[in-house]
Amino acid sequence: METATTPRHDATEVIDADGFTSLRVKQVIRETADAVSLVFGVPEASASTFRYQAGQFVTLRLSIDGAEHRRCYSMSSPPDVEPDLRITVKRDRDGLVSNWINDKVAVGDVLHVAPPEGRFVLTATDRDVVTFAGGSGITPVFSLVHSTLAATARRARLFYANRDLDSVIFRDALADLTDVHGGRFEVQHHLDAHDGVVSPQRIAEFISGHHAAEFYVCGPAPFMDVVEQVLLDAGVPKQHIHLERFSVAVVPPADPDEPAVTEEVTIELGHTSVTAPYRAGNTLLQTARLAGLKAPSSCETGSCGTCIAQVVQGSARMLNNDALDDDEVADGWVVTCQTLPTSRTVRVVYD
Ligand SMILES: Cc1cc2nc3c(=O)[nH]c(=O)nc-3n(C[C@H](O)[C@H](O)[C@H](O)COP(=O)(O)OP(=O)(O)OC[C@H]3O[C@@H](n4cnc5c(N)ncnc54)[C@H](O)[C@@H]3O)c2cc1C
Repeated sequence: METATTPRHDATEVIDADGFTSLRVKQVIRETADAVSLVFGVPEASASTFRYQAGQFVTLRLSIDGAEHRRCYSMSSPPDVEPDLRITVKRDRDGLVSNWINDKVAVGDVLHVAPPEGRFVLTATDRDVVTFAGGSGITPVFSLVHSTLAATARRARLFYANRDLDSVIFRDALADLTDVHGGRFEVQHHLDAHDGVVSPQRIAEFISGHHAAEFYVCGPAPFMDVVEQVLLDAGVPKQHIHLERFSVAVVPPADPDEPAVTEEVTIELGHTSVTAPYRAGNTLLQTARLAGLKAPSSCETGSCGTCIAQVVQGSARMLNNDALDDDEVADGWVVTCQTLPTSRTVRVVYD
């Protein structure tokens, strides 16, 4: 099912009512047996809409067997080097969209793509860039590393964990970067098949002597947890640790025997203010949607910051937050996709 579209024309640019643009697949690159890259042609009229920073992602809206699905995919292309926008999608076992993309998408297909977003980007500093990628987590990390080497004088290091050699995406491209940028780039591969799962000791060894860097971590949740803990234990300040989570933190089901503390939630979005009864277990984003509001959202893992809003009355708790810093949280900002209200009434204001 396609979403209703009321095209907005800016010169020749067409953006539908949900903010998606139709982009043609220019190239399909089989990276490994389980991963494929799609290169999109971005029309001149949409060039500024799709300008992005290394580490950001786009949201795809796909119609599969009559149902609509949205998924986020990070750009693997380095914006400073390649003019085209490329995403790389790894099969998720039993996953719907990732397998569909790997099996079905062909050159010439048109996909609905929302503009780039995300805060997993290079910061304005000359500190070294130390990155950790696990499996498909290489996608934004490859873009970050490549951009660092191409557009700055900073040094970059990559710790890259995979199950086995056949699952290593961008193996040759990484070797090329090492050749071209010699002393400025180092990659250390970790293969579970040979080395077992990544241990804290392995990470500690990798960062030894490199604590004053900017750290970027993307991969499966257990891998990210190990890396983050080692970095924190080593005294790396939180603001220098950048995390991008691909998987959704599951909202725990509400206990049916426990009466919900929250009775109603008031949500202000644009010129609309709605007070809705609260259904136990729902996030603020779900509550806004049930109230009929078109609340902004994208990754729904608490990573991208698209859905942020401010709790101006009452209280709430976040299940996961990789988007907001401590000062913003202290000011009441929350990622609504990962936030449960905790007081009898709550008032939330979208920017
Ligand atoms: C910011 C961001 C950037 C991302 N970038 C990338 C990227 O660059 N490359 C990439 O490959 N991925 C990326 N992802 C992940 C991507 O968005 C999808 O989540 C991923 O492709 C899986 O989608 P899917 O439809 O194939 O799986 P889904 O169908 O959503 O399933 C996901 C998993 O849940 C399991 N599952 C599904 N239904 C059930 C159920 N009822 N009960 C139990 N288990 C179930 C499946 O077995 C599967 O393992 C990114 C995610 C985010 C948030």
